[in-house]
Amino acid sequence: MKIYADYHTHTIYSHGTGKIEDNARVASEKGLKEIAITDHGFNHQLYNVMRKDIPLMRRQIEELKDKYNVKILLGVEANLISSEGDIDVEHKDEEKLDIILMGFHKRVFAKRLKDRFGFFIPNFFAKIFGYSKKRIDINTQAYLKAIEKNNIDIITHLGYGMEVDAVKIAKSCKEHNVYLELNGKRILFKECEMQKIIDTGVTFIISSDAHRPSRVGECPLGISYVLKYNIPIEQIANINKITAFKKHN
Ligand SMILES: [Zn+2]
Ligand SMILES: [Zn+2]
Repeated sequence: MKIYADYHTHTIYSHGTGKIEDNARVASEKGLKEIAITDHGFNHQLYNVMRKDIPLMRRQIEELKDKYNVKILLGVEANLISSEGDIDVEHKDEEKLDIILMGFHKRVFAKRLKDRFGFFIPNFFAKIFGYSKKRIDINTQAYLKAIEKNNIDIITHLGYGMEVDAVKIAKSCKEHNVYLELNGKRILFKECEMQKIIDTGVTFIISSDAHRPSRVGECPLGISYVLKYNIPIEQIANINKITAFKKHN
């Protein structure tokens, strides 16, 4: 059982400590066949990649093409920015990217003021005082709408920052050919829902979410889930194989 590709890594363009080249070099040293550079989306308040950097990043990737024995994809880890399923990667951005990841992050500029007060802040308090069924439903719907409305390839660390119905979201991922991530730092699926998620037939993808080059390709947490829950290897996108994505450009 070998991870062939790591499709979720950060660089100095957002919250990472290494350059694109550092991540690529480490990926190649560890025998990965593919790596994706997926810095935080444009609306992140602290660690956003900037639109003006995307062409520069693409040029660097182009220059590194033959230097290391690893294919480098350019992506973004987009943010969910409203309860209506809006994300901070627009269609005009999409054509410049190879893959789009999407996750919920707390320190993000909401789409509208009403999303700040009706979506982000209630989730902040729900984390402290508990989630109502209605709140979980609103959160779940936000993900379902995001999957419907956008060309997302991977949902990252589902359940982080807000409680959701992960089984419903997994079903939608399966329907729309979206991979569900087993994140390198945090996996928040509940024990009781894990088998139901697997039974939806969704394809998982294991990634490091590396913020340091040395962590690229390091995915022991994801692998431990595969072993613990006996997830069939056919249901993992990047074990013993590389992955096909929707084409964005
Ligand atoms: Zn993230
Ligand atoms: Zn990340």
